[in-house]
Amino acid sequence: MIVQLYTQSQLRNFTYLIKAEAGWYCIDPFDAEQVTSRIDGKLIAVINTHEHWDHTKGNEVLRDQTGCEVWAHSAAVGKIQGVDRFLSKDETIDLGESKSFLVMDTPGHTHAHLCLLYSEEGSPKAVFTGDTLFNAGVGNCHNGGDPEVLYETISKQFQNLDGQIKVYPGHEYLGNNLKFTLDREPTNQSAKDLYKDYEKDNFLVTNMNLERQINTFLRLDQDEIKNKLEGDTSSEKQVFLRLRELRNKW
Ligand SMILES: [Zn+2]
Repeated sequence: MIVQLYTQSQLRNFTYLIKAEAGWYCIDPFDAEQVTSRIDGKLIAVINTHEHWDHTKGNEVLRDQTGCEVWAHSAAVGKIQGVDRFLSKDETIDLGESKSFLVMDTPGHTHAHLCLLYSEEGSPKAVFTGDTLFNAGVGNCHNGGDPEVLYETISKQFQNLDGQIKVYPGHEYLGNNLKFTLDREPTNQSAKDLYKDYEKDNFLVTNMNLERQINTFLRLDQDEIKNKLEGDTSSEKQVFLRLRELRNKW
């Protein structure tokens, strides 16, 4: 079971709870009380996608109250306090009942950023993307990141993920991101349709198939996008960098 918790954060953070055989895992706790009120039984571990405060805020209270461990990216040494276990690229976390997380090393938003690919019976079902891939967008690189590295991560690790994989990001930015998509690509009918759905329900869950239709940063080969950009658009990487610069001022 996957529970998406919308927090009362001004940054519109999501926290996730995943029920495993032996208890619960929590990804990016913001409000410890909100987390403990939603789980029955043991909290095994908190996993931080990266070191920013809004993804680690609940760590300490949850650790003190429940005795859970704190897990984070191996490059988060010295950046996140009280980490019990550092996770490495391609490590598998067995959740029991044929469920697992695969640790993805996904630098770009920061250099200590991981994502978790969730599988059942060996088949990937969902990806928890922190501030790397958002619904209809990608993370910024203002606080310790690098847009060129983010491009490599998105193009090599997300662009080819199976279409049915659900996308669970660290923030609810879908509405604003869809407006950016439509600014860049006014004829994008999928984005228009999804925006109508979003106006009725702010907490839509997308999958990679839909992302490839509505996420400008996964549509770097589209002429409509390229033709509206100023500057170097000679490669998909350059298109990505121009879009990231524009999105910074959006
Ligand atoms: Zn962040």
